[in-house]
Amino acid sequence: MRVHHLNCGTIKVIGGVAMIGTGGMLRRAPGVTHCVLVETDEGLLLVDAGWGTRDYIAPSPLMRWYLALGDCPRDIQETAAAQVVRLGYAPEDVRHIVLTHFHFDHAGGLPDFPQAKVHIYRREYEAVMQPQDFYERLIYRPEHHAHGPDWVVHDLQGDRWFDFDCTPPVALGSVEFCLVPLPGHTRGLCGVALRLPDGWLLHCGDAYTFHGDVDPDNPFKPPYYRLWWPFFSLFKPFRAIGAHAPRLRALLRAHGDEVQLTCSHDPHELDKFCAPGAV
Ligand SMILES: [Zn+2]
Repeated sequence: MRVHHLNCGTIKVIGGVAMIGTGGMLRRAPGVTHCVLVETDEGLLLVDAGWGTRDYIAPSPLMRWYLALGDCPRDIQETAAAQVVRLGYAPEDVRHIVLTHFHFDHAGGLPDFPQAKVHIYRREYEAVMQPQDFYERLIYRPEHHAHGPDWVVHDLQGDRWFDFDCTPPVALGSVEFCLVPLPGHTRGLCGVALRLPDGWLLHCGDAYTFHGDVDPDNPFKPPYYRLWWPFFSLFKPFRAIGAHAPRLRALLRAHGDEVQLTCSHDPHELDKFCAPGAV
């Protein structure tokens, strides 16, 4: 069984240095969209779908604006579908997609895998289907679910993953996953906990965006964080980023020998997982 860590969309946001720690004060930060592809006994499992083919070649007006805002290179080769093919598979081999949340940079690739089961937490599904405020209407894009995904909506039923609530675990051969709610950035944002042969990987989506935030011993903020914070704090989804960091640091302090974390946009973390010998 192999695990692939993929960048499914380069995004260069002004002020990103204060979010992900790369770039400069006024220089755009080259961020990534970190997706995880796992070869299981029951087909491929993809955690988050990244940006999609249609987003790059025929974006809707709003997606065109997001792409410009992020100075995205719109490289088709970065889509999850293109990378699955480069790894020797067909897009149809992706049987399960597990979403941290439905923001356009995490769900845009769904239409490239119309046959896949799409696993999502109940509260996020409800937010997508019935957006309630300005941000939800702006950032959940109907074109990303217009194809009618084969939804699998997960609820909490009293299960626990370490010190966190979680949805009932799903086993795909030797791989197991569950959703761990970390709400704030969106109503139903979840970490995706994957049980792999070498231990647990918790993909936290945008619950945090900089590895220093979850350093268990010496947490630290990215450069210029304090300078940019007044700007980011104007926007509700940004305000909640990092809210669960204390719990995640406590998790690593207690179980760092069996749990690894990653978030979606920190290139430092993606490099770590892609390094030779990394899991
Ligand atoms: Zn994101």
